[in-house]
Order: sequence, then C-alpha cells, then structure tokens
Amino acid sequence: EAKAAGRNTFCFYNQDMSHQARDRLVLEQALREAVLGNALSLNFQPKVLLETGEVFAVEVLVRWRHPVLGFISPAVFIPIAERSGLIAELGNWVMQETCRQLEMMKCSGLKVLPVAINLSVYELERPGFAKHLMDPVKKFGLDPGLFEFEVTETGLMSREEAVIDALKQLREAGFNVALDDFGTGYSSLSYLRKLPLSTLKIDRAFVIDMTNDKVAASIVRTVIALAESLELEVIAEGVETLEQQTMLLNLGCKKAQGYLFYKPLSLEDFYQLLAESG
Ligand code: C2E
Ligand code: MG
Ligand code: MG
Ligand code: MG
Repeated sequence: EAKAAGRNTFCFYNQDMSHQARDRLVLEQALREAVLGNALSLNFQPKVLLETGEVFAVEVLVRWRHPVLGFISPAVFIPIAERSGLIAELGNWVMQETCRQLEMMKCSGLKVLPVAINLSVYELERPGFAKHLMDPVKKFGLDPGLFEFEVTETGLMSREEAVIDALKQLREAGFNVALDDFGTGYSSLSYLRKLPLSTLKIDRAFVIDMTNDKVAASIVRTVIALAESLELEVIAEGVETLEQQTMLLNLGCKKAQGYLFYKPLSLEDFYQLLAESG
C-alpha cells in the first residue's frame, strides 16, 4: 500500500510540476502581451507622517489585470518578469508612466509629491539602466530629487560591486535610494556602510510582530537607531493598527505606510486625495 501511495504521489508530483511549468509559460506570454500592449496600470500608496497623518510622498505599485484570471499580485508576476527578461520593459513602462502622471499632476495644478518606485536588482544590472531612468525625467522636465528608488535588501545581497556602483550612479544623478523590506536579509553593517542609501524601510513582518514580541520590537528599535546613526531616513511599512502607530511613534519613527492610513489607491482616487488636500 505504501508503495502504491508512493507511486501515486510521485505521479501526482510530476504532473503538478509540468502544470506549474506550463502555467508559468502561459503567464509569461500573457505578461509579455500586457507589458507591450499597455495593459498594466499603477496604484499609489501614500506615505504619511506618523504624528499628523500628513501625506508627504507616495509609492508607485504596478498592477496587472489578466483578462481571464483578474488581478495577479506583483509578488507573482515580478519574479516571472525577472526570469524572462521582461523586467526591463516593465520597469521602463513604470518609470515612463510615473513621469507622465507627475507631469499631468503638475499641469492640473496639483501638488507634485515625491514618488518612490520599486526597482528590481535585475534592472540595476542592465547596461545603461541609469539613462533609461533619467530619460523620462528629463523629457518631462522633472526634478530627479523627487524620485526614490526602492531596492529590496534580499535583492541586493550576494550581488557584486557593480550593483553598488549602479546605486551610486543613481545618487549622482540626484535620485534617492531606499533599502526596502529591511531586516529580512542579513546585511552586515560593513555592507550597509558601502551602500549609497537615503532611507531604510522597516519590513512589515517586524511591524506585525512588534506589539506582542519583544525581539521584533527590539529589532524595530535597533533599525531606527541604526538609521539615525547612519543619517538615513527611516519609514515603517505595513502599519495596520493604532497600537502599531503609537508604538512606532514612541520608538522615534516618524514616517509610515500601511492600510491604517491608506491602501494602494487607483489613479483616480489618488487624484481625488491630492485635490482634497489642496
Ligand atoms: P513592497 O515594495 O514592499 O510593497 C509593499 C507591499 O505591501 C505592496 O504589495 C502593498 O500593497 C502592500 N501593503 C502596503 N501596506 C500594507 C498593509 O498595511 N498591510 C498589508 N498586508 N499589505 C500592505 P503589492 O502591491 O502586492 O507589491 C508586492 C511587491 O511587488 C512590492 O513589495 C514590490 O517588491 C513589488 N513591486 C510592486 N510594484 C513594483 C514595480 O513597479 N516594480 C518592481 N520591480 N517591483 C514592484
Ligand atoms: Mg517598496
Ligand atoms: Mg517593502
Ligand atoms: Mg514588502
């Protein structure tokens, strides 16, 4: 019986694997069409000052609505884009569309907030990547200082000096750089010191656990102190409760993002928010 079960399991597993491989190819093809056919969109999640709730910046999050499957999470399709090389096109689109939207806001007399754009480390490894980021900024006459690129800590780990140089190029062009999901990797302090950063972004996992786990709370406290001593900005992601807000404030964190304040907003809702806040 054990043998039969084993064989079945084996068979099932195999089938599963080929389904997975096939699904991935189908998704990859659909994503290719979406990127080239302008079927992606952007969401905007405000960043707020913890004390007052004032919106001081916004993070751009890409959205893909599959014609049949509906919305697919970027946590699913970004890795597909990275493996298939589509990430370059996707990143270009996000950058150009963001610049276009900023220009529209400017023209509509709305406040132009600083924007954060997520960058895959694969994008940093492309030759001429800085030019691809700079071109739309120039084209729309925007200030590079308005932009912050968020790169995940785990993405940067085990990368070569070339990636650090790429980040330096971004800083030299006047852009800001944030280390996203900070605390989930194992960056050493000496590695951190080499990175030309503007901001540390505390990972949501620590924010979730911090109110009932002393270790998570210590980690948050330590990251805030670290940012201060390295003269970096610090922001907490994934704040969902008042308790978390209060605790972060007590620990000296001044900035946050999370559902407690705003979920990622459609372009329409984001414009509405900008219009209301004058
Ligand atoms: P991230 O940059 O760390 O973005 C934060 C994610 O957490 C977003 O998920 C956001 O919708 C979600 N989030 C924000 N506040 C809360 C909260 O209070 N509670 C909970 N449960 N979630 C919250 P999303 O939009 O699904 O994006 C997932 C990841 O995909 C991002 O993580 C980022 O790494 C990547 N990503 C998104 N857009 C882009 C893009 O344009 N380019 C690249 N390369 N990566 C992107
Ligand atoms: Mg991010
Ligand atoms: Mg993050
Ligand atoms: Mg994250």
